[in-house]
Amino acid sequence: MNNGGFVDLSHFGVELMLAKNLFNLGARTPIVCALCGIKRKAANRIYWLAHRQAPIKGMLPWDPQWIERSTVNNLHASIFLGLIHDYVPEHYDGIAYGQQFCDAYALYCRIVAHNPKPSHRESASEHHRVLDINRAWQLTQQLRASTLRFVTCLTCHARHLCLHQVTQRPIHCPVCQTQTGIRRRQSRVLRTFSQNAHKTSAICLGRY
Ligand SMILES: [Zn+2]
Repeated sequence: MNNGGFVDLSHFGVELMLAKNLFNLGARTPIVCALCGIKRKAANRIYWLAHRQAPIKGMLPWDPQWIERSTVNNLHASIFLGLIHDYVPEHYDGIAYGQQFCDAYALYCRIVAHNPKPSHRESASEHHRVLDINRAWQLTQQLRASTLRFVTCLTCHARHLCLHQVTQRPIHCPVCQTQTGIRRRQSRVLRTFSQNAHKTSAICLGRY
């Protein structure tokens, strides 16, 4: 039947809603296709209908060592993958997995947005969101492929990620490192303040 070129999207149903949610969270087309089980052309059309422009093209972020690049990276990856690990059944696949992934990322965004003491790097990211949804998807692939694993810190008992092949090097807990960093920053501020206080009083005393 000739429908005048009109493309009926009603049969997408759940896939359409999921794709829209993923795009709204910043997901790139290949990830939307993978999670929704739809073709690139359909994903591009959904993006176009919602945003009236073509989606971003280019390479997806892929860095298998990303969690080791900084303490903040590891903290954020551990929060997000902790949600995936705890709330998404391992046998989930297809749309069911895509919806859970989307919900876990939205929850991660809400958690980090309420960080009372954001670091310099977190403050520079929108709503303290260091982990982009596209990298979040990459991390789930690494967890599923067992190139990442969770370990529990013996000092603070927090769960965090490490690369699976790391066995010889010591594993540093990002929570303990962050606490140490905060203490160092506080003592540096106090030191600077007390040094400046001496200077200030010296200047004041020099006037009399
Ligand atoms: Zn620790």
